[in-house]
Amino acid sequence: MKRYQYPVEVHAHTIHSDGQFTVEELIESAVSFGYKGLILTDHNTSAGYLEMPSVQAVKDEDIITLHGIEWTTYFGHMLVHDADYDVDWREATPTTIDKYMFEVQLANGLVGIAHPFDIGSPICTGCHWDYQVENYDLVDYIEIWNSNQPQEKSESILAYEFWLDKLNKGYEISCSAGRDWHRPDTEDANMGVTYLELNEEKLTQDHFKDALQNGQYYITLGPTAYFTVENKDLLFQMGDRVHCSMLEEGKILMTIKPTELEALKDFELENIYILVWNNDQLIFQSETNKELSGELTSNFTLPNNLSAGYLRFEVRGDYRGTKDTPIIVGNPIYLRE
Ligand SMILES: [Zn+2]
Ligand SMILES: [Zn+2]
Repeated sequence: MKRYQYPVEVHAHTIHSDGQFTVEELIESAVSFGYKGLILTDHNTSAGYLEMPSVQAVKDEDIITLHGIEWTTYFGHMLVHDADYDVDWREATPTTIDKYMFEVQLANGLVGIAHPFDIGSPICTGCHWDYQVENYDLVDYIEIWNSNQPQEKSESILAYEFWLDKLNKGYEISCSAGRDWHRPDTEDANMGVTYLELNEEKLTQDHFKDALQNGQYYITLGPTAYFTVENKDLLFQMGDRVHCSMLEEGKILMTIKPTELEALKDFELENIYILVWNNDQLIFQSETNKELSGELTSNFTLPNNLSAGYLRFEVRGDYRGTKDTPIIVGNPIYLRE
């Protein structure tokens, strides 16, 4: 089955909160960057979304948009996407956040923890995640890369480890990249990009939301990745939930390609290699490739003793002078007993 990938941005602001973009400017910037999808997440308001349907690129379906909001509180920032109504967050406290997340779920919204390790007070009140979530099944994703140059930030490493800890505890939870876009960037800025992977040739609002909810996406500093497990004529991909036995002795097929996004083409990428984990066990590491000039493919056969939990891939390398850093982080295929 042919698969289609769509670069999207799920964390962006306008003049309806503290961004510099008008709604129209944000959409135009997103289209020219190459995004196929965009979620508006102003601080504590979704008002800007009302302007979106009248923007030409939205009318023309050059870009698919969803509404959202960034709960901006003293105890953390939380992204809520496409809820049927704005759940009232104002009474949420560090020990009652589960109740509010559950209400978002009842309203068919998605929950993402934004920049969990950003510096909090007095630099940025509430930017650090201080909520004590009891049940991480209520969280759809953790934003492990926030804003520009995520590869240079210690917060990215802490957030990545925070995400892995939840995965290793058995939660089905994705990692995301949020540009936290507020204003036009300088030319030397690089950012993490979220790529949805779908079987559908056309992105719709429903596919956009479903892919985010199911974890059918990876995040990247540029290159694109195709990661598939093929077994007995069946194909499995990120976001699938399958029995371990269905993947055992299956063949992993991976293809990495240079970025297709103009703004990211010139950044230096070296010493690239691929890693695959079954839970916290590293089960495959490719050779290191000096550079990524064309397609890089890597295949291997999975063992016959996979453990329940997850299977996930990563591409690492040197990026703009940061050594041995995650370049692509794939969301898991979840394995059940
Ligand atoms: Zn924030
Ligand atoms: Zn934000």
